[in-house]
Amino acid sequence: MSETPRSFATAQVQAGYRPGTAENTAVPPIYQSNAFEFSSLSEARDRFALRRDGNIYSRAANPTVLVFEERVAALEGGIAAAGVASGQAAVALSLLALAKQGEHIVAANQLYGGTIDLLQDTFADWGIEVTFVDQDDPDAWRAALRPETRALFAESVTNPIAQVLDVRTVARIAHDAGVPLVIDNTVATPYLQRSKDFGADIVVHSATKFLGGHGTALGGAVVDLGTFDFTADPARWPQLTEPYRRVPGGSLVDRFGATGSPYIALVKTKYVHDLGPSLSAFNAFQLLQGLETLDLRMQRHSATALSAARFLDAHPAVAHVHHPGLESSAWHTLARTYLPRGAASVFSFDLHSTGDPDADFALVERFIGRLEVVRLVANIGDARSLVAHPASMTHSHLTPRQLADAGIGPTTIRLSLGLEDPADILADLDAALVWTRAARATVGTLGA
Ligand SMILES: *Cc1c(COP(=O)(O)O)cnc(C)c1O
Repeated sequence: MSETPRSFATAQVQAGYRPGTAENTAVPPIYQSNAFEFSSLSEARDRFALRRDGNIYSRAANPTVLVFEERVAALEGGIAAAGVASGQAAVALSLLALAKQGEHIVAANQLYGGTIDLLQDTFADWGIEVTFVDQDDPDAWRAALRPETRALFAESVTNPIAQVLDVRTVARIAHDAGVPLVIDNTVATPYLQRSKDFGADIVVHSATKFLGGHGTALGGAVVDLGTFDFTADPARWPQLTEPYRRVPGGSLVDRFGATGSPYIALVKTKYVHDLGPSLSAFNAFQLLQGLETLDLRMQRHSATALSAARFLDAHPAVAHVHHPGLESSAWHTLARTYLPRGAASVFSFDLHSTGDPDADFALVERFIGRLEVVRLVANIGDARSLVAHPASMTHSHLTPRQLADAGIGPTTIRLSLGLEDPADILADLDAALVWTRAARATVGTLGA
């Protein structure tokens, strides 16, 4: 990969792109071509054998996607990345490259709903067992370990409750067991947390969210931080240490161990190649545009969210605010260590529950219906401010037990605050809360 520019802000604008193509564009162009022409059959043969670098076919590699991969790797301090079609693909492929049938993963139970579906349903179909644990309980992580365990998986900041992971502690448990820690860093982004600094080995992203930042392109990334030594126990990782038929020159470690990432080579040459969740050149281009302003956007997102959290915390219609920037949060101390530049703009709050599920739903519906600036959309990390009701939307497949474990109640409302004027966002939330309280007063169930 290219030399990494020294500072975050320079890397987010420049990493991975070297001008000098025929047209010498200042901005990485969209290479909207499925395939690439060879100058001769000998050249085609050498490229297929990976003896010579060069483009072949965009499912495997595309020049615009390569710039995105290098830039995300630079921002995370990693050695290589794979750009894929969605965050869901990034999570799935990152783990499939570590655990196969008969093997095992330990995961936090406070995960994104789609990840829980993947791990407990599809991975179960494929014979990969997953044990879910309370991410704040180190003994639970340790107790779940088995000889077949191949990865520990958690989110650095969870959604919707914004719990902050004690990354160092979980990394130590993973490393004592000889397995890597995989972190979904979607909500924090590398601007708010470089998980590598705290011991993570692999990072995944839904680039759909803050990395792209504008709600216009799905994408994902798997980043090898280069910290985990797969050769320390070669028998445990045959997919990397035994001869690999698809690439000449022995194992992936033999071929890429000195110069690149055997792990990312496996993700790309086997899982992206076989299953096909490639990132399109057009989406990579849009995600690159977003990355160029990541630090500026995250500063604004973070500051707006903290002021909204404080405002909600003081509001009589609100029962509880789940934001780690508040001193009252159980994760406030962890946030000071792991999110030194501020917390993310994804957080939740609970309205006072009526105790009756139908009345609670009506209350939340009334609140959301009154919002005008904050929009009802099942997404996070957009330039727009978004609201969702996890219990009936993103987390509706979860059992009551899983909802409780994840800290999601019937009146929990998730926000992902955007880049609008913070005063307009606060006024909008205030108007909706006043309206909601008035409704409660009329039915005589005022709980505040
Ligand atoms: C959205 C999200 C995903 C899935 O990403 P997609 O791009 O929607 O496939 C995974 N993890 C987290 C934390 C997310 O927020």
